[in-house]
Amino acid sequence: ATFGSLSTRLTETLAKLRTKGKLSAADVDGTVREIRRALLDADVALDVVKSFTAAVRERALGAEVSEALNPAQQVVKIVNDELIAILGGDSRRLELAKTPPTVIMLAGLQGAGKTTLAGKLAKHLRAQGHQPLLVASDLQRPNAVTQLQVVGSQAGVQVFAPEPGNGIGDPVKVARDGVAEAKRRQYDIVIVDTAGRLGVDAEMMKQAANIRKAVQPDEVLFVIDAMIGQDAVATAKAFQEGVDFTGVVLTKLDGDARGGAALSIRGLTGKPILFASTGEALDDFEPFHPDRMASRILDLGDILTLIEQAQKAFDEEEAHRLAEAIATDGFTLEDFLKQMQQLRKAGNFKQMLGMLPGAKGMREAIDSFDEKELVRTEAIIQSMTPQERKQSKILNGSRRLRIAKGAGVTVTDVNQLIARFDQAAKMMKTVAKGGMPNMPGMGPM
Ligand code: GDP
Repeated sequence: ATFGSLSTRLTETLAKLRTKGKLSAADVDGTVREIRRALLDADVALDVVKSFTAAVRERALGAEVSEALNPAQQVVKIVNDELIAILGGDSRRLELAKTPPTVIMLAGLQGAGKTTLAGKLAKHLRAQGHQPLLVASDLQRPNAVTQLQVVGSQAGVQVFAPEPGNGIGDPVKVARDGVAEAKRRQYDIVIVDTAGRLGVDAEMMKQAANIRKAVQPDEVLFVIDAMIGQDAVATAKAFQEGVDFTGVVLTKLDGDARGGAALSIRGLTGKPILFASTGEALDDFEPFHPDRMASRILDLGDILTLIEQAQKAFDEEEAHRLAEAIATDGFTLEDFLKQMQQLRKAGNFKQMLGMLPGAKGMREAIDSFDEKELVRTEAIIQSMTPQERKQSKILNGSRRLRIAKGAGVTVTDVNQLIARFDQAAKMMKTVAKGGMPNMPGMGPM
């Protein structure tokens, strides 16, 4: 997972402090040294590492730690604060034009994930009620236009592309025509996909700069693969000089990358990270929040993103109905089934589990989590009669046996499911009453 080893090393380093009451200067120095090594091994740019560790050291030696009730926890807080700072502090949203259409241009190396991102962004914006148009200005890579058409149709948005068979078109003209088309047809957002090369080269930069000049975008998003390690420095600088950009999108944050690019990019360019891409599917995408990312790195959990992802999966009406059902004590197996189905719709279940606090400690359990389990659970509930789904109390031995047979599972499986359901129902009741369910590992901070 993202920041896997960095995260492990930071949490282990900080955990070591926990056994100490007061922290000596030597303790602080030792901790800072380990943090420094962990960051360097994660390919974080040297300048960023230096300023980060200097800030942590200064604060950790100061009064806020020596006077803290729990010095070790105060150091965790400091590291968390400073991580948030290097990730950009506050989150920043897309800047929309006062007079539509808002023009968003994507730039970056080939393979960075621009075309995929165009689809993700379009889908995200459409879900917010916008009408985006995708413009295929990547005429360099064979298939780039077709690929954009594919993601466009997956995202349910239109794609403006050059007519096929006209030889190699002019990407600047396509971009300009695309924006004109958007104005004419009243799209309120235009996303211009541009060409990249495998490495930085002058001609590509010139083309991107020309497209920028031609369409005067409101946002130029530099798309960078989080896995490229130390190359991130040179690539980001080249794009900043060549085209310049207003914001950054990190892609492939799901990979087993060391994640250095993610932690360096803000410090190197001074530009905010707007979005993160975490997989190949269109839904593997989220607005970037420095504070949430920091707590994920320190394994403090990312409950907010988790909740948002869950909300994305639940359709509003259904959620409303569910909430009402629970409030009136009527949470049934039928509701449970619907929840299950919506969870599966949410897509990457493992990824969501990974956002729970303390998830790193449950890595094995999460890795062994089998999505087939959800399918089996669905099968069991589907083998119940409507009456049984409404009133789980009537599920006696012979009914359970019949259900097990129908679903092709053992009676133990059925029993376990019903036990889990009873537990969930209890938790639902707590939530409905305004309480917080007990989450593993979420001690007071
Ligand atoms: P482009 O050349 O910049 O347009 O890059 P593409 O959009 O074609 O992406 C290159 C490859 O990376 C494709 O195989 C994508 O499916 C994949 N990809 C894009 N974003 C992500 C991501 O966030 N995670 C992972 N794992 N793969 C991604």
